[in-house]
Amino acid sequence: MNGITIALSKGRIFEETLPLLAAAGIEPLENPDTSRKLIIPTTREDVRLVIVRATDAPTYVQYGAADLGVAGKDVLLEHGSDGLYQPIDLKIAKCRMMVAIPAGFDYANAVRQGARLRVASKYVNIAREHFAAKGVHVDLIKLYGSMELAPLAGLADAIVDLVSTGSTLKANDLVAVEHVMDISSRLIVNQAALKLKRETLEPILAAIATVVER
Ligand code: ATP
Ligand code: MG
Repeated sequence: MNGITIALSKGRIFEETLPLLAAAGIEPLENPDTSRKLIIPTTREDVRLVIVRATDAPTYVQYGAADLGVAGKDVLLEHGSDGLYQPIDLKIAKCRMMVAIPAGFDYANAVRQGARLRVASKYVNIAREHFAAKGVHVDLIKLYGSMELAPLAGLADAIVDLVSTGSTLKANDLVAVEHVMDISSRLIVNQAALKLKRETLEPILAAIATVVER
């Protein structure tokens, strides 16, 4: 494939990447939210989009099945980013990784007393590092979604999850007690493609960088 393949996930990353791609003259010819197609042509004959699960974007780019992609910092830290260039923080899909607990649980006291906390998360690697750095002992429980349920159902004392408005936490009587890190999405680039397709890729990266800086 001589052209450029870009891996994007549906939903907020797709929506927020659109204006950045438009700056490089790239506009999808179909909407992935309504189309069942997983390969979407664009207004540029040499550029196509592949629609992937958010957590799979780095994998497609690592193996060179896509030249470019967009992935959250959470995904890159949790699943690894070996062999990927991350030249641009796109400043899209912004949220915060937080520790949250049921309202009424005395987290500070539990930590002070050196209690072993049960923490449920989709982001066990990020959670492990966070608590290790603070010297807090935790048992981590891996979940794949609906983290808010874990403390309510008695599975865990706390969760580590992404928070944007906080309304999901609030609706489930949870409160955020610690900020783990700020999250945004990055442009990821296959290293070999950057060399082999430099002439095509560089203007795309430059156009995107210009919009991001505005
Ligand atoms: P799915 O929701 O299909 O299970 P996912 O959670 O991996 O998959 P998205 O919800 O589209 O996919 O999230 C994609 C990325 O957007 C995440 O990796 C994260 O960086 C960011 N993100 C997640 N939740 C929010 C949010 N509430 N507000 C802003 N950005 C978010
Ligand atoms: Mg999601």
